[in-house]
Amino acid sequence: MKTETVRKILIFDQGDPVAAQLLGKAEEVFGEGSGRGLRPEYIILRARRTYNLALEMLDKTIREEKPELVLIGATALGEEAAPALGVRFETGVAAHCVDIKENEEGRLTFVIPAFGGRAVGEIFIPGAAAGKPAIATVKPGMFPDPAGGESADEYVAAHCRVIDVDAMAEDGRIPKGSKTQGAFRMTGVRPREHLSGSITNADIIVCGGYGLGSEDVWNKLKQLADRLGGAAACTRAALDAGWGCAEDSMIGTSGRAVRPKIYIGFGISGAAHHTCGITGADTIISINNDKDAEIFAASDYKGVFDAEQVIDALLGEIG
Ligand SMILES: Cc1cc2nc3c(=O)[nH]c(=O)nc-3n(C[C@H](O)[C@H](O)[C@H](O)COP(=O)(O)OP(=O)(O)OC[C@H]3O[C@@H](n4cnc5c(N)ncnc54)[C@H](O)[C@@H]3O)c2cc1C
Repeated sequence: MKTETVRKILIFDQGDPVAAQLLGKAEEVFGEGSGRGLRPEYIILRARRTYNLALEMLDKTIREEKPELVLIGATALGEEAAPALGVRFETGVAAHCVDIKENEEGRLTFVIPAFGGRAVGEIFIPGAAAGKPAIATVKPGMFPDPAGGESADEYVAAHCRVIDVDAMAEDGRIPKGSKTQGAFRMTGVRPREHLSGSITNADIIVCGGYGLGSEDVWNKLKQLADRLGGAAACTRAALDAGWGCAEDSMIGTSGRAVRPKIYIGFGISGAAHHTCGITGADTIISINNDKDAEIFAASDYKGVFDAEQVIDALLGEIG
């Protein structure tokens, strides 16, 4: 699909700031600044409390409004809804996009990590059209928050038409007992306590990879993160090693995207599945004992050292 054929975009707002981030990216690709000369119409489908209605309302809205593109945050709910919509509308879903752009031929292009994270691929969704939309999911934090001084809600209100499913359920426009999500039923939402002060908002992130080698070194890395007033994060391989890294602290396509001022990575190879989560960092510092490690290509400063020795030295310096 050519980007010029994208005239209507549906964005799913499930109560995570990712909806505003998706809107910001859509504005960049399709909006006034893009040079397309066309402004798409944005529709926000807001279902922040009515999760069980989300899939059916997304389905209904796509049938009635016929958008060419549907953007969904890759949260637990979004990852459930997107493929279900893909099947219903017999269309493609670009999962965990790290970028959305127009290529040199003017085609709508979704950028995703491929081949186990060793490469970043550009994919197209052929046959996408009004009412049979291209669907893309994006991790929260992958794109910058466009709201600036405005709150995310004010930004959205200024740019979009909002279909408020929560309000419709409350005032009876959607009758009680309406058809709900088939595959799963959300029974409640419990905020994850350790998310506050977590990697999502940290200015300094100290991230450990499999090259740390042991739980002892992981614990030292956590100490270093604390002393620096930052947050400890990990790669998938470090998480799977079972050293006690929290799942919430994993960075990458199946973890979180982060935007710290400083990211310091220890013993990390640099797979695209991980590095696509740190592209928003201001400064990337990497320590790896392999001088040819891929992570160095994505780093501002690099040190070819043993991870534990550097962590010990920094802990010694900081006191
Ligand atoms: C669908 C899919 C989704 C994925 N999602 C994610 C994701 O969200 N996040 C993620 O991180 N990964 C993800 N992965 C996994 C990803 O592809 C990589 O396998 C993973 O990021 C590698 O982690 P690592 O760099 O810690 O480990 P490794 O690749 O094993 O690298 C370890 C590094 O440590 C270095 N090293 C070894 N010893 C030392 C030492 N003593 N001192 C210093 N350096 C040392 C080595 O040279 C090496 O470069 C995903 C994979 C798939 C298939």
